[in-house]
Formats: sequence, structure tokens, C-alpha cells
Amino acid sequence: MKKQIAILGSTGSIGTQALEVVAAHPDLFEVYCLTANNQADLLIRQALQFRPNTVVIANEAHYEKVRDALQDHDIKVFAGASALCEVVEMPGVDIVLTAMVGYAGLAPTLRAIAAHKTIALANKETLVVAGDLVCRKVQEYKTAILPVDSEHSAIFQCLAGEAGNPIEKILLTASGGPFRTKSLEEMAKVTRRDALKHPNWSMGAKITIDSASMMNKGFEAIEARWLFGVPMSRIEILVHPQSIVHSMVQFRDGSVKAQLGAPDMRLPIQYAFTYPDRVETDFPRADFAALGQLTFERPDVQRFRNLQLAFDAAARGGNAPCILNAANEVAVSAFLHDRIGFLAMSDLIADTMAGAAFVEHPGYEDYVASDAEARQLASSLLTKYL
Ligand code: NAD
Ligand code: MG
Repeated sequence: MKKQIAILGSTGSIGTQALEVVAAHPDLFEVYCLTANNQADLLIRQALQFRPNTVVIANEAHYEKVRDALQDHDIKVFAGASALCEVVEMPGVDIVLTAMVGYAGLAPTLRAIAAHKTIALANKETLVVAGDLVCRKVQEYKTAILPVDSEHSAIFQCLAGEAGNPIEKILLTASGGPFRTKSLEEMAKVTRRDALKHPNWSMGAKITIDSASMMNKGFEAIEARWLFGVPMSRIEILVHPQSIVHSMVQFRDGSVKAQLGAPDMRLPIQYAFTYPDRVETDFPRADFAALGQLTFERPDVQRFRNLQLAFDAAARGGNAPCILNAANEVAVSAFLHDRIGFLAMSDLIADTMAGAAFVEHPGYEDYVASDAEARQLASSLLTKYL
């Protein structure tokens, strides 16, 4: 039986790499559903190649174009955010790969969980915003989240065969991004172009900025906390510029397991699809002798304030990480539009977190309201930094 996969965000960096994985194993996987936000032409090409049952274009302005292009091909076409939530429930779907970016991933992920689908989770913002709620729903509907983020896939692989052995510490590795060795004075002047040049990974614009500011690593610590049920105090960030050790787990006897490999997202994507099996790939292999050395250093939270802000939000709990995420989405978008400087992103996030209403035990509606409030507050505070 081939696994039927729904890919939310098929036109993005993760989505297109997931389709490479599917194309390499036509005997194992079939695409049931593809979705995109704006890239109608690419979505149409993907649909013609992979012949899914259904496609969704989230931005309704492109609906007619996609419908007309696919009308002779027995592929259903829907549009709008609500359609995204409906397709994940379709009985034919086995696995939902959440590869869309940002808060928009939360609603369809919750719907997919309630429909008992296995989630291959790339959209880390879902767990940052509402990790507590999402984990409760996973338990309630007895389904599973398989991590796609390379660090979390690494931790997940280290934990194979370790049921019953508590985690003493997670060592979450970070490349350090393009500004690892820059001074604060230099970081104040970096441009959007500088920040978009990631040393080791080619990814979508939003996560590339989050990597440069290390908010990505703060998010990943929160993601790890929920995925593996460990307190933040047992998660240590370790800067490892080569991105070969994808993360490590330390056990109570002091033993440390790591998962290593060349930096290639197709590997964790495929592992989420084939778990618990491993299947052949022709991906590049790590060449350790050529690498010569692997290095590790502590992160600098004075220069990378977002990392501290993320740990502060996690310590506060409740809706604080939801506010953090919303403020960050506004800040990153402003930076990408050359409206604010690189370091001002942290100021804006800190100000928003100080001003937005705190909710200690949020439910879904509280998260929706809190996201909207924090975005509005961040947008109004933005004028201070223009
Ligand atoms: P991307 O910007 O390249 O692609 C995003 C995809 O989501 C596109 O297909 C876009 O059409 C769709 N999308 C965007 N906004 C949407 C909306 N409001 N409604 C519906 N669809 C929407 O992003 P990416 O780099 O592929 O990252 C996707 C997710 O995976 C992010 O949450 C990111 O943090 C996570 N992730 C990415 C990588 C990576 O290597 N790219 C690694 C780990 C985790
Ligand atoms: Mg990652």
C-alpha cells in the first residue's frame, strides 16, 4: 500500500524537496493533495506531474487560473484558507506534511490531528504558538507528530530504541547563521540581502531571517520541548557551524547519541515518511576526512537577543510564545521589506511581548485572539523603528 501524502505548502523549499522524495520512490508514496498560497504556475506544474486527487490555492485570486489549467485532468481544485482545513480531513490522506510557513499552519494542523492523520511537521510555528494544545489533541486523537525539522528528526532518531530511558539533556545544534562572527555594530548595518545568505541551508525567506537572528533556534527549543516532553532547562543550544551534527541527546548515564549527515532536508523529510524504516537514497554523503573537524561553541545571547526572548517566552508560558511568534512575523516581514533594521526586530518583539495581554491557560480561541492582538500591537509599535 502506497502512503498517500497531503503536502501543505508544496511550492516552498520543504514542499518541493518533499516532492523530490516522492518522485524518487513512486513505489512507496503517492501525492493525494497539494496546496500553495500564491505560486499558481508552479502548483499547476506540480499537479500535472504528480496527479493529486485535489489541489488548493489558498489565495482565492488565483482560483480561476488553477481551475482552468486542471479542468481536463480529473483533479479537484479548491481555494481559500478554509479549504486547506477541509482537505486534510479527506479519507484518502494518510500523512499530512505541514510545510507552509507561519501561524497559518496552526488551524489545518489541528484539523488534521482531529481527523486522526499522521502529521509530518515542518511548520514549527504551530508548536511555538500552541504546543500545549497541539500535544493534548495528539493524545486525545491518538495520532503522531513525526518531526521534519532536521534537529528534531535527529533527536527522534537518537531516541529510537530508548523507550523508558529519560533524557538528561537535549543538545540542539545551530549553525549560527551568516552573522555568527559579526559584532553588534556590524549587525546593526546588515541588509536583507546579507541576512538571506545562509551558510549551509537553502530555505524560504522567513526561516532564513529567523536563522540569521537565531529566533529559529529559540523556536526549535520550544518545538523540542513539546515534541519530546522535556523542560526548557534540559535543552542546551550549541553552535556548530558545519551543520553536520544535526543534534544530540544525553542520557542519565552520561552517554551522548548524535545523528549526523550532510545538510540535506530531503533526509529528514523522507524519514518522516518512511519511519520506522529507512530506504535508499542517492543524497550526498558526509565526507568526514574532507571535513577535517567539527567545532562547537556556546551561543551569544547578547548579540542574538531573539534567542533569549524565546526562552523568556517559554518560561512565562501561556500565550507568551504565541505573542512572540506573532511579533516575530511582523518584525521579519518589516525587515524583509527594508522597513526596519536587523537589530530593531528584537526591540519590536520585546516591546510587543511587554504590551500584549497575558493569558495563562489559553484555549484555541485565545490563541486566535492573542495572535491578532499581538500582530496589531507590533504593527502599531513598528512606527517607532522606521
Ligand atoms: P517557503 O516560504 O519556501 O514555503 C512556504 C510554503 O507555504 C509555500 O508553498 C507557500 O505557498 C505556502 N504558504 C505560505 N503562506 C501560506 C498561507 N498563509 N496559507 C497557505 N499556504 C501558505 O518556506 P519553507 O522554507 O519551505 O518553510 C516551511 C515551513 O517549514 C516553515 O514553518 C519553516 O520554519 C519550516 N522548516 C523549513 C526548513 C527548510 O529547510 N526550508 C527546515 C526546517 C523547518
Ligand atoms: Mg531546523
